[in-house]
Amino acid sequence: MRQSRNSQHPFASLLLASCILALLLAACGKPESLVFDGAAAYAHVEAQCDLGFRPTGSDAGWATGDYIISYLEEQGWTVETEEFTYHDVPVRNIVGRVGEGPVIVLGAHYDTRRSADEENPSVPVMGANDGASGVAVLLELARALDRDKLQQQVWLAFFDAEDNGRLDGWEWCVGSSYMATHLEIMPEAVVVVDMIGDADQQLFLERNSDPALQERLWEIGATLAYTDTFISQYRWAMYDDHVPFAQQGIPAVDIIDFDYPYWHTTQDTRDKVSAESLERVGRVVEVWLEGMDD
Ligand SMILES: [Zn+2]
Repeated sequence: MRQSRNSQHPFASLLLASCILALLLAACGKPESLVFDGAAAYAHVEAQCDLGFRPTGSDAGWATGDYIISYLEEQGWTVETEEFTYHDVPVRNIVGRVGEGPVIVLGAHYDTRRSADEENPSVPVMGANDGASGVAVLLELARALDRDKLQQQVWLAFFDAEDNGRLDGWEWCVGSSYMATHLEIMPEAVVVVDMIGDADQQLFLERNSDPALQERLWEIGATLAYTDTFISQYRWAMYDDHVPFAQQGIPAVDIIDFDYPYWHTTQDTRDKVSAESLERVGRVVEVWLEGMDD
């Protein structure tokens, strides 16, 4: 199952990545404080886990939404929610917006699975990686994106009700499907980040993603010397929050590390997530958005 790793010394690649990043940022004249910071992102993972299990319709799930909304507002984003009911449970998508022009959507689900797939089915999943990691990357981007450099409007979309698929007749990706079928503006692109925080990070190309956009993102990963983790080979085909947008004809990519042994288990806890993994994904998206028309 596992890929063999590049034999380059990890410290050497880290050093190289830091140098390249410093050069890139110096070239762009970007202040250091506006660089995506993995430790700041990790703090958002901790804050979500501190709220407890966060399935759709739970008090902790609602509190997670409130946490996202207050952080976005604090960072100056315009926030709207999309609320509806599914199987008698209240569902709330959250969208933060900045900028002008064509729309780019960055998405992540913030709900966690209400039952682990193994063990006692009444035990929920903490979702430190499956849920909290993607949200953490989006929230740190809300702080770090340099709005003067954006050539387009950016929406940060936090989807509810992604992760109860096959439980009591629930479907997967309920929130993102709702958003994709209720769009008033067609986005130019959608990039979903899901399960990207694993300390043992392996981001393969995903078969339901738009190939050209995916290639562009993995090229940025290579420019930042992340080829050990942004692995330019296909592995999985995922039904994830990008698919409902792809079905509307929008180029959509899922950045996902599905080689995660703790997926949908009670072991998906914060100790499995690393700040460095969050940072690599955040910086690739950051460079993509800020440097797109350079
Ligand atoms: Zn999941």
